Amino acid sequence: MGILEVQNVNKRFGGLQALDDVNLNVEEGTVHAIIGPNGAGKSTLLNCFVGRLTPDTGTVMFNGQSLIGRKPHEINQMGVSRVFQTPEIFSDLTILENVMIPSFAKRDGAFKLSPFAAVKAESAIRDHAEEMLGQVGMLEKRNMIASAMSRGDKRRLEMAMCLAQDPKLLLLDEPTAGMARADTNATIDLLKQIADTRPITFVVIEHDMHVVFSLADRISVLAQGHVIVEDDPQNIKGNPKVREAYLGD
Ligand code: ADP
Ligand code: MG
Repeated sequence: MGILEVQNVNKRFGGLQALDDVNLNVEEGTVHAIIGPNGAGKSTLLNCFVGRLTPDTGTVMFNGQSLIGRKPHEINQMGVSRVFQTPEIFSDLTILENVMIPSFAKRDGAFKLSPFAAVKAESAIRDHAEEMLGQVGMLEKRNMIASAMSRGDKRRLEMAMCLAQDPKLLLLDEPTAGMARADTNATIDLLKQIADTRPITFVVIEHDMHVVFSLADRISVLAQGHVIVEDDPQNIKGNPKVREAYLGD
């Protein structure tokens, strides 16, 4: 059984069949890439995983539980996070304080119990946030004000904020879009490092084939709302249907 199982998902926008009977099986602990031309339905599919869109028909199961009809925050609490979009960076706060925010948000009720519990929780949250910053290589910058960050550091901070929620499944929609090659390579390294250091599953939508083939264990190719093939990277490269639909041969 996969950690994310998508069966026969359909989504229509007026006259447009954006998702046409989509099936997808994501194995736990893998990096699963979804590729396909512009307008293929990749973002629409991702939005069906995070509760921003509801499929017209079909099922989306995460860890054996249906995600259909659940609110985004509920899905987030189940362990599904979307990277590079969800967390808002507070530019007046330090980098460390920013990473502490998701954990505070998660525990909101706990702080009303007692001042003692609140102080204890804060120190645990700080330790955890420092650990997350260590994982993305930003620990030494923890006391810097966030507004002073470089673009690459901003990506690292966003990743640390996501990791602070302790997600089981991380979804990324074109994480390197608009990046120069050096930043793209740094992002690849960062994602590899995260994948290697914790039990986590990635679903990555990506346009850049260099990124896809650097990261993916498994690839689904979406074209006109339909998964035309799901296979290992080696087989995807040589698949004539894929070359025709996407790689431009
Ligand atoms: P991709 O991410 O693969 O580029 P999208 O999922 O964004 O593709 O879009 C798939 C198709 O659905 C496109 O034709 C797009 O114009 C259309 N679409 C996406 N969202 C909406 C929406 N909210 N309303 C109407 N059409 C939409
Ligand atoms: Mg998209």
